[in-house]
Order: sequence, then structure tokens, then C-alpha cells
Amino acid sequence: MRVLDILIPFAQTGRIGAVRIGAQLKDVIVELGPPWAEGSSVGAGGVPYLYAYGCLEVATCHARCQMIESIVVQTDWVTMEWPSRESGRAERFPGGPTYSEVLRALSEAGCSWGVYEPLTLGDQCAIRVPASGAIFVFTTEDVEEPVLCNVSVADHRPHSCG
Ligand SMILES: [Zn+2]
Repeated sequence: MRVLDILIPFAQTGRIGAVRIGAQLKDVIVELGPPWAEGSSVGAGGVPYLYAYGCLEVATCHARCQMIESIVVQTDWVTMEWPSRESGRAERFPGGPTYSEVLRALSEAGCSWGVYEPLTLGDQCAIRVPASGAIFVFTTEDVEEPVLCNVSVADHRPHSCG
């Protein structure tokens, strides 16, 4: 497994298996087992709204429904940890792909992208993939070439659970 084997399908579809915007956390747990970590903040339902499987982070509605509102893949780990097919076990591979590696992989996959101005500032730059709305944020601080920090999709449209 390479990090781009995860990121390119994520950029094309906005989902990682059962982990997709609008799904329920319980559906993810069926596929991946219980989250490996959870945030300390809790929402209106008294349960956390941030969950992680290694570098895969899931944020749910802050009210009570546990619907998934955002998905983040943290790529700035030297060694990434990722849920393997064997529930509860981590797969490990190098993180930190560079700007040119990401753009080459997107191009090879026929996946179009554009500069994402709102997050291109200071020590970072960003691109957005229209197919999924995925946003890739790169750090430009103290590096020869920008290095990918994270890739995310989010949808915070109001819904009726709360
Ligand atoms: Zn909700």
C-alpha cells in the first residue's frame, strides 16, 4: 500500500469504503471495528464527535445523530497508520507525499484539480478536486518542495437531528 493508493480514489469519490459524508458512525464501525481513538470533546448527545483510525479521522454531527460530516486523512506522519482489512490492525507505510507526486498521480488517474485560494496563504498551499470537493493542503515551510499535510472532505449542511 502506498499513500497515493488511498488518496487518489478518495479524491475521485470523496469516500473511503463505508467512511463517507452522510453515513453513520455505526456503519463505519461495522466495517473497521471500533475507532482506535476518540476526541475528548463531546456533543449534545454526550458522546464524542471526533474519531480516528490512525491517520483516518472522522468527525460526526455535534448533536446526537453521529452522521459523518467530515473526513480527514492526515498525511504528515513519517509512518502512516491505516486500518487494514483485518479489523483493528494497522497497516503502515510512508507518509508525506510531495506536491509533484500528488499532481502526477491525479493526472495519471485523469482527475482534474484547481488551486484552492482560500487555503493558499502563508506557509501553505492547497488544491481542490471538483469531482469530490476534496481539498489537499500542503506545507511550504522549510521544505524544498511542498509536502502534503492532509486531504479532507466536509459537508456541514444543517439537518434535522438536533
Ligand atoms: Zn445530526
